[in-house]
Amino acid sequence: MQLYNTLSAKEREVLIEQAGKERLTISFYRYAHIGNPHIFRNHMFLAWDALEVLGRIYVAHEGINAQLSVPAENFQAFKAHLDSISFLQNVRINIAIEQDNKSFLKLKVKVRKKIVADGLNDATFDVTDKGIHVGAELFNELIEDPDTLLVDMRNHYESEIGHFKNAITPDVDTFRDSLDIIEQELSEFKEEKKLVMYCTGGIRCEKASAYYKHKGFKNVYQLEGGIIDYARQVEAKGLENKFLGKNFVFDHRRGERITEDVIAQCHQCGKPCDTHVNCANEACHLLFIQCDSCAEKMDQCCSSECKEIYALPEEEQKKLRKGMTVSNKIFKKGRSEALLYKKSPEATVKPIFTSR
Ligand SMILES: [Zn+2]
Ligand SMILES: [Zn+2]
Repeated sequence: MQLYNTLSAKEREVLIEQAGKERLTISFYRYAHIGNPHIFRNHMFLAWDALEVLGRIYVAHEGINAQLSVPAENFQAFKAHLDSISFLQNVRINIAIEQDNKSFLKLKVKVRKKIVADGLNDATFDVTDKGIHVGAELFNELIEDPDTLLVDMRNHYESEIGHFKNAITPDVDTFRDSLDIIEQELSEFKEEKKLVMYCTGGIRCEKASAYYKHKGFKNVYQLEGGIIDYARQVEAKGLENKFLGKNFVFDHRRGERITEDVIAQCHQCGKPCDTHVNCANEACHLLFIQCDSCAEKMDQCCSSECKEIYALPEEEQKKLRKGMTVSNKIFKKGRSEALLYKKSPEATVKPIFTSR
């Protein structure tokens, strides 16, 4: 049984191009008890590999979180397979706003402790006592209410390129940090205010809303299906779109445009820009915002140091990389001393209100 990718990303890219077939970028998640995540993982891999599904999927005892690219012609078969699994029957599938055939180039189904790295000890609170799910229409009403505190549950590099008007956007690197900061900052409003939260596709709010209820917030709401489904709903129902800019996504597209507003700036020259790139120096790979002219000037690197390394022959670069870990990939998304127009997080938690 072949339970792993046999093709490299490059080979896959060529195949997708040659096939010329339309692919759909989709995502879904479901919290459900999975007895043996390893067996479940292998089952999913085999079924999806046969359907030419690509993507990044996390499986844990607590459920499944999947971001995928599915050939359009196999979508019905894919859906039928999901429906054949009791807890995935009629699961809400978020369909990306902007399609790209190369959003994913491998099928990676990984067994994890959790399907979202939230750093929470689930045994300490009732994870099923969630906030009230609201659709786009009610969400639009709620966020105009002066008694509402609207909170973006995503990290700094995500909200930087797009968020809802008047949202509190914590300047945090991790989901865990934002949970604490928001709780501290908003603790005096636990009783009287409505806490309304949103994230990319809704999954982070599932835990966060339960956590805040446990912490004493009385009125907790969450945007069902997150920004992705909100954008679909406002389009389908002709509602006012209260989002600004781009929705950051975790695939090759990096972001999908929801509105024409450009709310971020190039981290190197300060010009309005909301295009995320990874530093071309493999040993760095820093995620940051770079405009076209800076990309040209800097050879798509984040700093002169990286530019120098990137200019070396590939063999030299490999030698330099030996034994080094690419820490930027995990810990320093969008933050570096070299980036003039990206500020470091403040020591105080107060700045989370500055965007209001
Ligand atoms: Zn620039
Ligand atoms: Zn760099």
